[in-house]
Amino acid sequence: MANTALSEYIANFVVKYTEKTKSSKDKALLARANLADSRASAGFRLSTKELVYPIVGVSGGGAYFTDIDGNSYLDIAMGFGCLLFGHYPSFLKETLQEQLSSGIQLGPQSCEIHEVVELLKELTAIERFAFCNTGTEAVMMAFRLARLSTKKNKIVMFTNSYHGSYDGTLGARATDNASAVPLYGGILPAAYEDVLVLEYGELNVLEALYPYSNEIAAILVEPVRSREPSAYSKEFLQLLREACNKFNAILIFDEVITGFRCGVSGAKGLFEIIPDMVIYGKVLASGLPVGVVGGSYQHMAGVDGGTWSYGDNSYPRESTTFFGGTFNKNPLTCSAMKATLLKIKGEGAEIVAKLNRKTAHIADVLNNYFSNNLIPIKVGYFSSLFKFESQYNIDLFFYHLIYSGIYIWEGKTMFLSEAHSDDDVLYLINTVKRVALLLADLDYFPSKKHGAIV
Ligand code: PMP
Repeated sequence: MANTALSEYIANFVVKYTEKTKSSKDKALLARANLADSRASAGFRLSTKELVYPIVGVSGGGAYFTDIDGNSYLDIAMGFGCLLFGHYPSFLKETLQEQLSSGIQLGPQSCEIHEVVELLKELTAIERFAFCNTGTEAVMMAFRLARLSTKKNKIVMFTNSYHGSYDGTLGARATDNASAVPLYGGILPAAYEDVLVLEYGELNVLEALYPYSNEIAAILVEPVRSREPSAYSKEFLQLLREACNKFNAILIFDEVITGFRCGVSGAKGLFEIIPDMVIYGKVLASGLPVGVVGGSYQHMAGVDGGTWSYGDNSYPRESTTFFGGTFNKNPLTCSAMKATLLKIKGEGAEIVAKLNRKTAHIADVLNNYFSNNLIPIKVGYFSSLFKFESQYNIDLFFYHLIYSGIYIWEGKTMFLSEAHSDDDVLYLINTVKRVALLLADLDYFPSKKHGAIV
């Protein structure tokens, strides 16, 4: 039966939302002819069509930013997880302004990179690092290095993971076996000839890999998947370590999200499992573009032939593959990395512990509330990443949060930062409760009481 009260409410809400964020909507409409933008139509549904446009940001500081209409938002997208210390924290502002006043020297070696690698080594206990501009590129490079150093081809990945937009990682498990198929048009099926996709967390992983034991170059895993943050397994990761030892394959941890967020030495440190290679990005440069591959001497030698010295007969003796890029180690990113790593070295452990506690508190309070009120939403979380999970379409819930001044991006992973105060957390909790109850009262959510699915 049609819920007229809900339909009338939604029509009214659409008017209020679009009035409040009018300039963002106008910009989206105007730009559409010239700006091809996957974010601008992400999550498109006819039922919420009038609300599908990105909020245009103008300025930000701490845990907040202001949009083009002058609305202020408590940001819980936090640059897709890059902004662990908030929008433009003072340590970053100083360092970037100083770097900008010296110019942007692309070409000469970055002045800061030597300290960056020292700090990285100290914090992560990894030997060598190579730099590019995105997590996507770093994953692509890790594949290349792993295949070069093992002289094998197959890469193993896991379901419901995300490793960026490289062709080789945009595949899904074929229906009845571990082979993979592209998830999107424009990607060659051949890109998956040497990719296996297994269920994350399945403890028979060793058995499943035995038929391919001589062919596996690397196992790539997000130690904790951002799409299912609560569903992680240390035991499973240990089995992957074992499998790599047995099959002489390389274990790659994709720590683009977990790196420096779930602990100073990332998931690697937290779970006490030593991968052969690690991918970093996001938090490491506090919002500037970066991707890093780190690994042992042996596995990283493919970048440059290995180490050598002067005044003796040493030379870059190992086989190499191609690694390069115009913007790699650009001075702004290097300055940002150095400042971020110094901050992490000084205060990281304490900040991370505090954020983990705050996030667990948000999840506890809201999960109790949802369950007591039969609201079909659950907060899934790991360290300071969290998500509102539901088996139903809850778009309207998210739009109400945005309307109430809490910013959520289209992918809907959320992050706390050092800049989120206890008052911000309280505002978030109270707003979520208010919005969820309002929608529940309108029978927006299906429930045991009401049955219908919206
Ligand atoms: N790996 C993981 C685990 C990620 O979450 C992401 C991006 N969110 C990437 C790789 C790709 O990073 P980028 O967007 O910098 O290419």
